[in-house]
Amino acid sequence: MSISLPILSTQALRSRAARLPSMSAGLRSMSATALARTATTNPRALASRFLGNRRLLVVAVACFAALPSSLAAAPVDLSSYADRAARIAKAAAEDDGGWRKLVELCDDVGPRLSGSDNLACAVEWAQATMRRDGHENVRADPVTVPRWTRGAESLRILTPREIDIPMLGLGGSIGTPADGIEAEIVSVAGDEGLTALGDGARGKIVLFNVPMSRENERFGAGYGPAVRYRGAGATMAARSGAVAALIRSVTTRTLQSPHTGAMSYAGAPEQIPAAAISVEAAEMIARWNERGIPVRGVLKMNAQSHPPVQSANVLGELIGSEKPDEIVVISGHLDSWDVGQGASDDGGGVVTAMEALTLLRKLDLRPRRTIRVVLWTNEEFGLSGARRYVIDHKDEMERHVAAIESDGGVAEPIGFGVRTNDADRTNRAAETLKRIVALVPGMKLDAYSGYGGADISRMHDFGVAQLGLDADMTHYFDVHHTHADTVDKIDQAELQRNVAVMAVTAYILADMPGRLGDIDADATP
Ligand SMILES: [Zn+2]
Repeated sequence: MSISLPILSTQALRSRAARLPSMSAGLRSMSATALARTATTNPRALASRFLGNRRLLVVAVACFAALPSSLAAAPVDLSSYADRAARIAKAAAEDDGGWRKLVELCDDVGPRLSGSDNLACAVEWAQATMRRDGHENVRADPVTVPRWTRGAESLRILTPREIDIPMLGLGGSIGTPADGIEAEIVSVAGDEGLTALGDGARGKIVLFNVPMSRENERFGAGYGPAVRYRGAGATMAARSGAVAALIRSVTTRTLQSPHTGAMSYAGAPEQIPAAAISVEAAEMIARWNERGIPVRGVLKMNAQSHPPVQSANVLGELIGSEKPDEIVVISGHLDSWDVGQGASDDGGGVVTAMEALTLLRKLDLRPRRTIRVVLWTNEEFGLSGARRYVIDHKDEMERHVAAIESDGGVAEPIGFGVRTNDADRTNRAAETLKRIVALVPGMKLDAYSGYGGADISRMHDFGVAQLGLDADMTHYFDVHHTHADTVDKIDQAELQRNVAVMAVTAYILADMPGRLGDIDADATP
């Protein structure tokens, strides 16, 4: 699917994309374990572990300081990069290229669900855009991805009064019979509530009314515990004999928006339809239940899974001047949900990576190693692109020096969570990164042992250092996976600061003499 294109209008790209062939391989569209793993490796799911990791980091750094000097890192001297970092940051502040890319991706291509024509259009757009920016080795690595369509859907409460409830089916759910499933809706406050209900769930629609906590919102710490019900709610409900599952949308603030996302039938005795409803509706149903008022409704969903289709990861490079075979990956995921525009999840991450490379090229800053943009396909529905990449690039994996992902929004940058397969190495990497981000003028950035990203987590077993570009997540979940995840929610200046942090960090990691996390990584050039 690597097609050499002149600069095409998105209209032309769309018509090309519509003609891309579907693959008819009889592969199961989505592995349940893949989804389960997605849920547990999600940055938000792991954010709650961050504080614990940070405490570990303090202990580990203290231990590291006590090592014999022969094993300790050479004194870090990255000061020779200060001028270049300042040039990059100034250029990023003045450059609106990332913003213009985001507007094109969101307004012209639109939402990019796995397996959709829009996602195919985005694959073409990304290649054409990176070629226009003059990048090297621009290509699309083919990846087979699942295809699921939502179709028409509704939830109507019949008693105690008739009302249509804002809802979105969960990705991967089966549909209902054409005339829907009519049943009593019972709300539970979690799995203990469901257990307490016993046989009372049989034949009912179970609503998991589990709020997302506002604890440590800056890092989205409340997401993990609450999103569990989105992933596994249908299985839990089916085990209790329920006929459908509803979840309270996973968010801390709400204006009647339902939030979709992936679900799984792993371990389910049978598949039942699953949907998210607005927080307001979930609370109303729970209040009726508490007052002993029975609630009855009819759920209609036309959701369908289809045979997998071909998509692609999109790659582009700035080839290194001295060690072109060594690679620093900078990345975001090209796919999104089918509602809204996928602006903050993850259009912002996509254009942050793309524009960081463009900025370095414009400034004629070619590092010693290669910087490779990777725009992952299908993060949301099971990490298809990330899984394929480590297979197709297996021989290169040991030469991947680091991989950075931006997939937590592009609000004010906070710094980097870093993860490697060795605690000492992680601590050395975090210490080096602290010094690197300190070179970005005008920002308060940090680096800490933490989480990299869902897509780059596939490189963990190959020993690749994984870096998550963290931005303030306080408002990330307001629009996450909703109709409201649109480009107007993104602050252009904040996006440009993310580009600055990505470009400075990628440049220094690709240029400094040692490899991030190695004992002598920071040796003076
Ligand atoms: Zn994402």
